[in-house]
Amino acid sequence: MVSVFLFYSIMVCYNLVNILYLNKTIMPNIGSRTKLIYAFLLDLFFPNKCLGCGKYGEIICFDCAKEISIIKTTTCPECGRISHSGQYCRSCKSNHRNIALKGIIVGAHYDSGPLKEMIHHFKYSGYLSLSEQLAEIICNQLSNISGVKEFVVVPVPLYISRKNRRGFNQSELLARYISSRFNISGCDALIRTRDTRPQIGLPRAKRLNNLEGAFSCQDIEFVFGRKILLIDDVTTTGATLNECAKALKDTGAKEVWGAVIARNI
Ligand SMILES: [Zn+2]
Ligand SMILES: [Zn+2]
Repeated sequence: MVSVFLFYSIMVCYNLVNILYLNKTIMPNIGSRTKLIYAFLLDLFFPNKCLGCGKYGEIICFDCAKEISIIKTTTCPECGRISHSGQYCRSCKSNHRNIALKGIIVGAHYDSGPLKEMIHHFKYSGYLSLSEQLAEIICNQLSNISGVKEFVVVPVPLYISRKNRRGFNQSELLARYISSRFNISGCDALIRTRDTRPQIGLPRAKRLNNLEGAFSCQDIEFVFGRKILLIDDVTTTGATLNECAKALKDTGAKEVWGAVIARNI
C-alpha cells in the first residue's frame, strides 16, 4: 500500500516537473507582471543553458549566435550556380519541367554555429521562444529583396494528425512572424491531404512520388494572381516546396518563392 502511494507521488511530481519545464518554452497567457514572476521562478529552478556551448544564461548566448553564418552568395537551388536571390537558373527550369517555384530564399548555412540544434529544439522539444530568432534569419535575407511588400505569406502545412501530435506547425509560427515584420498578409491557404512519409532518407525520385498530390489549396481568393512567399523551416531538395508551389500555381498564383531558415544538403 505504502509503495503504491509512493509510486503515485513520484509520478505526480515527475509530471509536475515536466509540465513546468514545458511551460518554460510555451509561456501561458498571463499578465505581464505575473509572467515576470513566473519566468523568474522557472529560471531559478530550470536555468537556461545555451544550446551551442552549454553556458548558463540564454537559450543561445551572444557568442554562439555570432557563429551562425548568413548566406551571402545566392545560388540556383538545383545546380548551385550563382543566381539572383536564389532563383532557379534558365537551364534548370527548362531541364526540369516540374519546377513550379521561381526560387528559394535561404537564410543561413545549416551546419553553422548552433543553428541545427536550434531548429531541432524548436521543432521537436517545444522551444517556441526560438521561433522569432529563427524567423529573423529569413527576414534578414528578405530585406535584401526588392518588392517584398508585393508578397503574401503561406506556410507549408503539416498533416492534421502530425500537427495535433506536435501541438503546433513550425512553418506557421515562422510565417506569422514574417507577415507581421513586413506588414504583409498571410494565410494558411494550403492543406496536406495525406500523411506522407518523412522525406529524409528517400532517394530523389521517391521523394517526388511520395509528395505527389499531397497538397491542396483551400483559399483560391487569397492566392489568385498573387506573389506567394512559401515558408518552411528547412529544405533539402526543394521537393516539398515545389509540390506546394504546384498546388498554388494550379489555383492561379502568379509567382511562388520558397523561403527557409536553412538548406540541409
Ligand atoms: Zn553559447
Ligand atoms: Zn540551375
